[in-house]
Amino acid sequence: MNIEERVRLSRYTTLGTGGPARAFARPETLAELRDALGFAREQELDVVVVGLGSNLLVADDGFEGLVLKLGGELARAEVRDDLLVAGGGAPNAVALHRARAAGLGGFEFACAIPGTAGGGVRMNAGAYGGDWSSILERALVVDADDAGWRARDELGLSYRRSGLRPGEVVAEVEFRLTPRPVAEIKTLVADLQARRKAAQPTNKRTYGSVFKNPDHELTAGRMLEACGLRGHRIGGAQISPRHANFIENADGARSEDALALMAEARRRAWEQYGVDLEHEVVFLGDLELPQFEK
Ligand SMILES: Cc1cc2nc3c(=O)[nH]c(=O)nc-3n(C[C@H](O)[C@H](O)[C@H](O)COP(=O)(O)OP(=O)(O)OC[C@H]3O[C@@H](n4cnc5c(N)ncnc54)[C@H](O)[C@@H]3O)c2cc1C
Repeated sequence: MNIEERVRLSRYTTLGTGGPARAFARPETLAELRDALGFAREQELDVVVVGLGSNLLVADDGFEGLVLKLGGELARAEVRDDLLVAGGGAPNAVALHRARAAGLGGFEFACAIPGTAGGGVRMNAGAYGGDWSSILERALVVDADDAGWRARDELGLSYRRSGLRPGEVVAEVEFRLTPRPVAEIKTLVADLQARRKAAQPTNKRTYGSVFKNPDHELTAGRMLEACGLRGHRIGGAQISPRHANFIENADGARSEDALALMAEARRRAWEQYGVDLEHEVVFLGDLELPQFEK
């Protein structure tokens, strides 16, 4: 297993920010994945998988651990009967393509989610009323000691959350889908994509929703909009003028710019609404939101 050093993670995040990983590997089989995990254990390194980096904010000074990018067999997708079987690193677009070609419906909502099957498990990704927990049958979870299948109920899935522990890697996912005419799938996907395009910045570098929707009548986006934050800019990052729960890399942003915007957004939501917004984006490396006075 080839281990690279100091690979810049900005190449692997949709925001396009983030410093280097101390170690980086691209396992393509289960055996290579186990090797890489064994290496990390020997070297006492924390392990993190990067999917499509579509929900990741990586510290500008990087991550002092091993980053894995799943490829080869671990990033394929295929259909077996009414199961969609996807490697942990398989992009959702590829998995959806396979399902559609086989006339299997149920995965259409994922057309709006630019991640991977494994990243979707970690986040219990969802959109338009569907999420991973609604179609996931089981997932193959691997760590340095073990590899085993976990059924949906054993994965601790709830709103944008799973019970996966640090260092656990989703190597394969099985989704149970239902037969649906290909034309219907195409129409639904086109409709969802049009809705997405009308509401969110789709041609900008972002990491998706910044904050989870709070338990409040306003969504996080509407709340931040009402706080006057649309278009607010710090350094090279700005709150999307289109949708206030997105941060765009406007011009040479650094992760610290995005973090500063998040801190400002949380402070204003607290001051105006008494709501403590919880971030959805996952932090990698030494990143922390500053506390504000409550
Ligand atoms: C334009 C845009 C729109 C988006 N819309 C939505 C949406 O509608 N709904 C939604 O839920 N999300 C949305 N997102 C966020 C993001 O796409 C999802 O959270 C997605 O599931 C993340 O997948 P990823 O593979 O890119 O994971 P990454 O961002 O690379 O990683 C996210 C987390 O998952 C972990 N992870 C990744 N792969 C694995 C694996 N194989 N095993 C274990 N852990 C893993 C990472 O370590 C990290 O903790 C959007 C993002 C963008 C940029």
